[in-house]
Amino acid sequence: MKIVDILNFRVPLSGQISNAVVNFSEHDVSLVAVVSDLRRNGRPLVGWAFNSIGRFAQQGIIEQRIRPRILAATEKSLLDCEGKGFDPSAVRACAMQNEKPGGHGDRASAVAAVELAIWDLNAKIREVPAWVLIAEHFGCIEAGCIEAGRTETVRTGAGRTEATRAASVYAAGGYYYPPGVGKTLSEELKSYQAMGFDRFKIKVGGAQLREDLARIDAAMKIAGDGKNLLVDANGRFDLPGALAFAKEIAPYSLGWFEEAGDPLDYALNRSLAEHYAGPIATGENLFSFEDVRNLLRYGGQRAGRDIFQMDAGLSYGLTDYARMIALMEQHGFDRRQAWPHGGHLINLHIVVGLGLGGCEVYPCVFQPFGGYSDACRIANGQVTPSQAPGFGLEEKSSLKPWLEKV
Ligand SMILES: [Mg+2]
Repeated sequence: MKIVDILNFRVPLSGQISNAVVNFSEHDVSLVAVVSDLRRNGRPLVGWAFNSIGRFAQQGIIEQRIRPRILAATEKSLLDCEGKGFDPSAVRACAMQNEKPGGHGDRASAVAAVELAIWDLNAKIREVPAWVLIAEHFGCIEAGCIEAGRTETVRTGAGRTEATRAASVYAAGGYYYPPGVGKTLSEELKSYQAMGFDRFKIKVGGAQLREDLARIDAAMKIAGDGKNLLVDANGRFDLPGALAFAKEIAPYSLGWFEEAGDPLDYALNRSLAEHYAGPIATGENLFSFEDVRNLLRYGGQRAGRDIFQMDAGLSYGLTDYARMIALMEQHGFDRRQAWPHGGHLINLHIVVGLGLGGCEVYPCVFQPFGGYSDACRIANGQVTPSQAPGFGLEEKSSLKPWLEKV
């Protein structure tokens, strides 16, 4: 059993939307296929993944550094100890040969796309949803209990044993649209409400204070309660700006105030936590275990209150992400305080598998990657992954034209 090729496709993101800092019209994503020598239904068995959303495709790093290293590795060195699947941590280590520590950036998401494709491939070898494999691997469910029908999450029907588990989910949107689009924030959030969402996130910090407060007022009419509305400044503010904005939104008792300042400004985060009583969220732009360790040491995050949003697809993959969650717990935090950035199928399976707090979803933006497939059930703010093997990317109609290329 071996990896015979690693293909990657640069996929542009649809949409002309902006947050407080960037316009996404130039963004793209690396969609990666890890091709094995196994076959299913007469075709090669392929693991698919991508490097999340909100950064850029990483063609050069994947093609010139990661791919040749993995294809040159001995067959046995990339297998798990039983030889029944591939070892994601071994693939990650192989991809990082001759790479210096630090300077994580784009390399972290390039490695992540390949490492996550290994999880998809392993789940397809086992013929289970990726979340089942993840839960077993990290001890969040007893190994083998799904097949044996020995868990409360198993439902058996039509001769098939099905594992079901849901995750809390909120609709992320509320972007700044260019003039003339003819869409209002209220209309956008109402459309999410009609889809079964009851919690929403909107962007702030990209307009004058008065306009942002008017946006919050409009969103509150749909969210109904401050705890169901989240605001995201995407790192826009300096410390005085963050504190001033926090003072203005304090009366709303919002669900959380996200990325008030630069993601690496731990002192700013600490000061904000000292002055703002509501939950704060950060971490989506930390791309390594070491950066997260610094956030835990110096960022002032509060146990039982604040939110961690690291994203496996931007930070070397699930192997490293699981280490971050373990470190959070060593520092006294609950894994339910982890709500990964990136509203797509891969993070849905990670959230469900690891038993995290929940995840975001982009129901209408960042296509073809944003949101879930029609086979995932969404109701009352909960989403349930389908029974498809792996991450189920094949069930997402917008991705099909790309996946059919291999
Ligand atoms: Mg964010």
